[in-house]
Amino acid sequence: ATPMSVMVGVGKAAESGVLIRNGEALQAASKLTTMVLDKTGTVTKGQPQVTHIELVNASDEDHVLMLAASLESGSEHPLAQAIVASAQARGLATQTLENFEAIAGHGVRGTVAEHSLLFGNERLMREQGVLIEPQLDLAQQLAAKAQTPMYFSIDGELAAIIAVADPIKDDSVAAIKRLKENGLRVVMLTGDNRATAQAVAKQVGIDEVFAEVLPKQKAEKIAELQAQGEIVGMTGDGINDAPALALANVGFAIGTGTDVAIESADITLMRGSLHGLADAIAVSKATLGNIK
Ligand code: ADP
Ligand code: MG
Repeated sequence: ATPMSVMVGVGKAAESGVLIRNGEALQAASKLTTMVLDKTGTVTKGQPQVTHIELVNASDEDHVLMLAASLESGSEHPLAQAIVASAQARGLATQTLENFEAIAGHGVRGTVAEHSLLFGNERLMREQGVLIEPQLDLAQQLAAKAQTPMYFSIDGELAAIIAVADPIKDDSVAAIKRLKENGLRVVMLTGDNRATAQAVAKQVGIDEVFAEVLPKQKAEKIAELQAQGEIVGMTGDGINDAPALALANVGFAIGTGTDVAIESADITLMRGSLHGLADAIAVSKATLGNIK
């Protein structure tokens, strides 16, 4: 494309809230064969809410939630914010957190009121030797309803399963349909539970899911698709997504996402809507068409 037609294309995209950082990205957008979408904050709103608390070996729900929220006060993960907000809504005051540690792709650990606490996924509990087998069925049922079940243990014993759900953005279904109409292979990429991710994918019309992917493995999944010959677009909002956004042929950041994601991407969707993807592809096609 001529520099002039690229400039016009970039300007046109900006009118619909799609900020294109460079001309190469604009030209590459129409050549994509696969679009990879992060789940939380990209397909969904990134505002999870607590939907279920199941006590196990414990009887005081407020006390358990208070301990969990005290632990999560150390974390910046959207899941943590859901737990803290739920405790606040009940007027529970958190206590001092010590020895806090976030374990990427697993969850968090720390000490509150001299109790040693763990909060996270099945993988975290298995690695720490916490018995969860009797609760796996319940966790699976919650996941099948598109909720993320998390395990909370106090002093090495499971105390509760706490599930959260993150609502799907209003226009994700329509935007994903447009991508498929453009002939793109659409894939979901997430660190979340497999059954949860599959349930969300089904609701938005995505057939292919890479779930339970550790943060450091997200970029490897992009490389795998590229090795299959795909020209890959990646859309994400999190720090976790940054290496994948940088490696993709075109990286798309959600404008309300983290600065690191925006800096790693070629194109930013200012409105947060996934319609920006098909909009960018349309502008790209029009721009390249202009010079034929
Ligand atoms: P993603 O951002 O794609 O959901 P992460 O790697 O951040 O992936 O998280 C993967 C999983 O690890 C979460 O679904 C959750 O089960 C667990 N996890 C991560 N952070 C926390 C946290 N602060 N509290 C509880 N669980 C967490
Ligand atoms: Mg995300």
